[in-house]
Amino acid sequence: MLKIDKELVEFLCATAKNMHPDEFASFLREKNGIITELIFSPVSFFGKTGSIIDWNSLPIDRDIKGTVHSHPIPNTSPSEADLYFFSKFGKYHGIIAFPYTQETLVFYSNRGKHLEYEIIDSEKRKF
Ligand SMILES: [Zn+2]
Repeated sequence: MLKIDKELVEFLCATAKNMHPDEFASFLREKNGIITELIFSPVSFFGKTGSIIDWNSLPIDRDIKGTVHSHPIPNTSPSEADLYFFSKFGKYHGIIAFPYTQETLVFYSNRGKHLEYEIIDSEKRKF
């Protein structure tokens, strides 16, 4: 199962809210098997027509395993363009739909299959 850091989920909700009604898109970086970081591509384009990422601008980083983007409508289903995009890169792809809460964050595989995920509270794992 996918594991995602609790703080990152909160940050994701806040970022999507800030960008609304525009979409945002970013890469997801893993650390020790847990998704912990958003990486914004320097030439990402955000707008009402959708998010465009220039893959060539992506730093070569093997810890980047997926992407996430927002939907300004309450619909977490990937569009046809999303599915095409998912098939091109990475292992998993998140969609966070309006009103941008944990409940409206959904992950898909690169083939568009729904993926379960677990939220990890890393504060509790520190010692
Ligand atoms: Zn989409």
